[in-house]
Amino acid sequence: MKPKKQFQAPKGTFDILPEDQKYWEKVRKVVKHVALGYGFERIDTPILEDAELFSLSEGETTDVVEKQMYTFRTKGGDVVALRPEGTPSIMRAYVERGMTNAPQPVKLYYLAPMFRYEQPQAGRYRQHHQAGLEVIGDQNPIYDAQIISMCIAVGVELGLKNLNVEINSLGCPKCRPAYRTQLARYFKARAPRLCKDCKRRLKYNPLRLLDCKEEQCQELKANAPNLIDSLCQECHDHFKAVLEYLDELAVPYALNPHLVRGFDYYTKTVFELFLEDEHAEGGSEKTHERSRLALGGGGRYDALGKILSGKDVPAAGAGIGMERLIGVMKKQGVKIPPLYRPEVFLAQLGAFARKKSLKLFEELRHSGIMVAESFGKDSIKAQLRSADRAGVKITLILGQKEAIDGVILMRDMETGAQESVELEKIVKVIKEKLKK
Ligand code: AMP
Repeated sequence: MKPKKQFQAPKGTFDILPEDQKYWEKVRKVVKHVALGYGFERIDTPILEDAELFSLSEGETTDVVEKQMYTFRTKGGDVVALRPEGTPSIMRAYVERGMTNAPQPVKLYYLAPMFRYEQPQAGRYRQHHQAGLEVIGDQNPIYDAQIISMCIAVGVELGLKNLNVEINSLGCPKCRPAYRTQLARYFKARAPRLCKDCKRRLKYNPLRLLDCKEEQCQELKANAPNLIDSLCQECHDHFKAVLEYLDELAVPYALNPHLVRGFDYYTKTVFELFLEDEHAEGGSEKTHERSRLALGGGGRYDALGKILSGKDVPAAGAGIGMERLIGVMKKQGVKIPPLYRPEVFLAQLGAFARKKSLKLFEELRHSGIMVAESFGKDSIKAQLRSADRAGVKITLILGQKEAIDGVILMRDMETGAQESVELEKIVKVIKEKLKK
């Protein structure tokens, strides 16, 4: 019968197949290890949130809120969104769950899927996963540096090479408005040469022009005034301290005065994590600018707490793209052993032996031995082929006669040597053999 419809995963989403799970498992393990090592505890928040949580947090006119949110009305009439990123949810939970009363700062990490209606391409999906780190309730620049250092630590523990951080300061509500005006004046005077999007951005958020990837805007961007030169004393000192801490930790970084990041809630430090060697890869600096993808990014977001709680809640955090990390692991040839590596294969012949081997399988598994089988197969030849494919060290063969006599054949797959072992002793014998 022909199926009514050939279903496919929704555009921009994908299945994580068994052969790729080892990479995901490794990333989760490393993130957990790094996070716990720095005193971060795990938090999980719902995939759905009140849509307004994101529009209020990130800003109505950001790309994510304007174009990329999966927003819908529920049957009950609530307007909810699939979270496009983690930070607003974490701050919501911090405020809602009384974490303001806990010893500060509260340090949290998460591993979670994110949803953005973007044009899919290599490394850009509509459902992607982020490892997130957030330090809430402390304004000390040491935490900005520590978050950055943690991102590097995750990459290093995964075996990645050539990681580099790009860093900038976006100032604060005290010093940013004057810079915004200065920047708007600069771009307005050159408006006819700007791309269509930038002309629009100029009206509501001139800062975002610095983030433009269009070729025609690059030269104007390069000569635009720098925010770093207009920082107030507090932001200047904060940024200097972050850089000094990074120097102390020997974290590789480069100043990028054009780094603005996509959300309105950022204050002071912003950073992104890249691969350094991509600078050297083909094409001009401009082409490279447009095509390269960040592995992660984050910064300080002292403005968010006020938006969600009315109180000042200083915080800093980062989100690392898990798909992109895995992409680099593969590209750089990081070797990860398979998750499923059976040591023993259990073959059986005949109905009685099959029944007996079922129990033996349980015993072997229970005693910590990784055992494979193909109980559904009758032919011993087919089972031995499976054993070969599984790459086991030992194959056990339980025939009708052996089952009746209470013994089992044990074959060393390397030497081909075969011996008969009492069923009662087989677990012990195998354990001894595997130890060698
Ligand atoms: P952002 O806060 O948007 O910078 O996202 C943090 C990190 O998540 C980025 O540096 C990427 O590694 C990853 N990321 C963001 N959007 C996507 C996407 N659409 N597909 C895959 N990874 C993404």
